[in-house]
Amino acid sequence: MKKAGTGRFGLKGRGVEPKAREEVRALLEEAQRASGVEPRRRDLLIENLHRIQDRYGHLSAARLAALAEEMRLSQAEVYEVATFYHHFDVVKEGEWPPAALTVRVCDSLSCALAGSEALLEKLPKILGKAVRVLHAPCVGRCETAPVAVVGQFPVLNASVSSIEKAVAAKQTRCPEASYIDFKTYQKQGGYRLLADCLAGKRTREEITRIMEDSALRGLGGAGFPAGRKWKIVAAEPAPRLMALNIDEGEPGTFKDRWYLERDPHRFLEGMLVAAWCAGVGEIYIYLRDEYAGCRAILEKELSRLKAQKALPIPPIHLRRGAGAYICGEESAMIESIEGKRGMPRLRPPYVAQVGLFGYPTLEHNMETVYWVREIVEKGAAWFASRGVNGRKGLRSFSVSGRVKKPGMHLAPAGITVKQLIEEYCGGMLDGHAFYAYLPGGASGGILPATLGNVPLDFDTLQPHGSFIGSAAVVVLSDRDKATTAAQNLMKFFRDESCGQCTPCRVGTAKALGLMEAKQWDQPLLKELSQAMMDASICGLGQAAPNPALSVMKYFPGEIQ
Ligand code: SF4
Repeated sequence: MKKAGTGRFGLKGRGVEPKAREEVRALLEEAQRASGVEPRRRDLLIENLHRIQDRYGHLSAARLAALAEEMRLSQAEVYEVATFYHHFDVVKEGEWPPAALTVRVCDSLSCALAGSEALLEKLPKILGKAVRVLHAPCVGRCETAPVAVVGQFPVLNASVSSIEKAVAAKQTRCPEASYIDFKTYQKQGGYRLLADCLAGKRTREEITRIMEDSALRGLGGAGFPAGRKWKIVAAEPAPRLMALNIDEGEPGTFKDRWYLERDPHRFLEGMLVAAWCAGVGEIYIYLRDEYAGCRAILEKELSRLKAQKALPIPPIHLRRGAGAYICGEESAMIESIEGKRGMPRLRPPYVAQVGLFGYPTLEHNMETVYWVREIVEKGAAWFASRGVNGRKGLRSFSVSGRVKKPGMHLAPAGITVKQLIEEYCGGMLDGHAFYAYLPGGASGGILPATLGNVPLDFDTLQPHGSFIGSAAVVVLSDRDKATTAAQNLMKFFRDESCGQCTPCRVGTAKALGLMEAKQWDQPLLKELSQAMMDASICGLGQAAPNPALSVMKYFPGEIQ
């Protein structure tokens, strides 16, 4: 006789323990009562993994098997998703669960410059076995480096004693920021634009044209013109969907968090206007798991927005990432929203044609739509005329590193890094001289101070083997080395490669090995870089060699 759940038509894998089944079923039923949505839907797998992890602190083999049974998925499917994301703690049979409290110390470049390595070395001994200390990729708070996260509580400008204090006080929740809520936003004229659109006082063509004339481009990094994207999606057959990318994991980038923590409805209104222009019927917001504070804000403000009856809005779903840089890549994000591993898709077809759940999808970075209301209210010419050095628009620069005033600085597109440092960041830190900079986070390469007068914008840095991406500027001084920075970045790419294609999976590891040698084998590193750029599926593998190539081009003295 066959056991239940096995055999040709049953689910394969380990048997399900009755207690685990009961626990998982109770969680799913609780979720259904709270949301009214059937939680066993395939795309809700990651949400369900979060539910189990939040309740029990880890994902045991027994509960994963029970979840697979409940969702009518194979255990392999559940396991491969659970083990893909950094924030899920899968505990195999016979293993001990992790300590009840986890402290994550960011070791990406800005935090490394500020001394996170020393924290990582000292903390395990000081905090003891009751606390697990992990290194973490960029947590999106680079202006307050170094950063440690106790549970979900970010310790800014962290020191051993401030982390110890947070642990002792059991401070594990992210405090709520003070922001413009729904009522205040409305009082300040918010949602009038959306109301006018829905009432037929504005036309889709008019608003789309304003976006095109403003020259607003995608601010997640790719820089595709926003208005043109709306037109492309609107031309596709319905149903159309929208996916908002708030997975900003590029080391050095924190502008989306900055805006969300202050004015979330400006983003939501822009999103709804864009959705209306492109004829979108349903919206998904994908928020990185590191932004627990933003999640609380969005949950609260979305429920207020949905509760109002004056403006008919499409269904909006908030989805929670689980710690995977690659999910900032648009097609990987879409896979993740569908409840799968965040592995980039081969293109074509492009997501505008075949995107989320196979439907045409308007994908936007959060900040891109954040600008919609202001551009419509003040006019396309207002935005376009903000640039300098022949460039158009404004850029939100996330600046970190060796400057006096790191932070999000809104400045004209085309500003140079020297102007940015002097006019917006209060100059270099005392005792530090400007040596080099990363204009576009980990992926955008490293430029020397001698190229500090190049306008910062889309298309201006490519001749120098660099790009602006999401405008994450990390400033290095004469106390830093470009080689050390490049090694940090390559380690990041190695850890964050989704592993789907060999040039990236193997190439990042091999390149790191070559870069850790005292003398770099430059011909081999160049050959490897070329293979990665030519043959990797997505931008991660294609851009990963940039820091190494920059060092060979601009800092040869450091590697000979
Ligand atoms: Fe994954 Fe890297 Fe290939 Fe992108 S390039 S699909 S991250 S393995």
